[in-house]
Amino acid sequence: MAEKRDYYEVLGVEKNASAEEIKKAYRKKAIQYHPDKNPGDKEAEEKFKEAAEAYEVLSDPQKRQRYDQYGFAGMGGAGGFSGGGMTMEDIFQHFGDIFEGAGFDLGDIGNMFMGGGRSRGPRVRRGSDMRVKVRLTLEEIATGCEKKIKVRKLVQCKDCNGSGSKDGNTETCPTCKGSGRVVRQQRGIFGMMQVQAECDACQGEGRIIKNKCPKCGGEGVLRDEDIITITIPAGVMGGMQLTVPGKGNAAPRGGVAGDLLVLIEEEEHKDFIRQDSDLIYNLLLDMPTAVLGGQVQIPTLTGEAKITITPGTQPGKVLRMRGKGLPRIDQYGRSYGTGDLLINVGVYIPEKLNKEERKLIEQLQDSPNIAPGASEKKSFFQNLFGI
Ligand SMILES: [Zn+2]
Ligand SMILES: [Zn+2]
Repeated sequence: MAEKRDYYEVLGVEKNASAEEIKKAYRKKAIQYHPDKNPGDKEAEEKFKEAAEAYEVLSDPQKRQRYDQYGFAGMGGAGGFSGGGMTMEDIFQHFGDIFEGAGFDLGDIGNMFMGGGRSRGPRVRRGSDMRVKVRLTLEEIATGCEKKIKVRKLVQCKDCNGSGSKDGNTETCPTCKGSGRVVRQQRGIFGMMQVQAECDACQGEGRIIKNKCPKCGGEGVLRDEDIITITIPAGVMGGMQLTVPGKGNAAPRGGVAGDLLVLIEEEEHKDFIRQDSDLIYNLLLDMPTAVLGGQVQIPTLTGEAKITITPGTQPGKVLRMRGKGLPRIDQYGRSYGTGDLLINVGVYIPEKLNKEERKLIEQLQDSPNIAPGASEKKSFFQNLFGI
């Protein structure tokens, strides 16, 4: 897969650009690389799509924030997450309004697109994308996992193998003679022009079915249950979206299936708080252990671990267990290293004492090493609050 360019770079704006600046920049690019101005120019088409993808993300405050924080990994758009690039149709559907005020009429845009932007030949249908949510525990995120999920979606009709035809036969559409398109005269932004439009008789497919499959009514697809296995890479984060190509809704009559978009959700963990790839564990020591030191058992995602508490451990200290956090992934979904487990240490001061305990503490009160001096006071607050 080709390296993706940074979205800000694609639109030629600064990281802190305003929504208005981003919109302006996109409009400029979209007009510059518009398929009607660059007929047959593949590079312009790619640039047009690249700009649309960048705009899709940067124009949406939530997506933009995720992109700023996690790069492409937050988008589910690159590397291991296999890009769900937008089609030309998507772009016009989503961002048609960007051309308003640019001397373009929306109707023209659609027609220009039909005539100039798309590759020639009958239309191949594409199934729609499907969105599902998957809830994961931190344990599952730590190792990566496979999830089987049950979805209701459009699947290929088995009776006709997705063709929509009872006898397997289709005929060339008499209206468009199989090309899937018809030519019309139309007034466009550059004067009168011949534009091609989709053939209504065959919906652009170029072929028609006389003898329709009774089960699917000629559609080639049916709504049914399907069980899909999703491979979740280690280190994913709540809010990320993974793309499973071809696992969305099946397309009518043997077209290309849509994608399955998997939104990751994280379950709360009873012991740990997640901070990017690090985990935080709160450890509350009893007073004698903090004073005398000792060994303490703490949980990790892979089992128990023993840690050594040094004598005289102060509340507020943070212990670090390297590599006991979660896998880190880069903007392309590749993992590189593992985060740490951070242990916040607190010391529990008992609130209720029995007679004997009270006596013991009272005895301690007058002991020479119990009351802090000026230097102990200074270093304690320095360590805890940094002041
Ligand atoms: Zn036709
Ligand atoms: Zn069928």
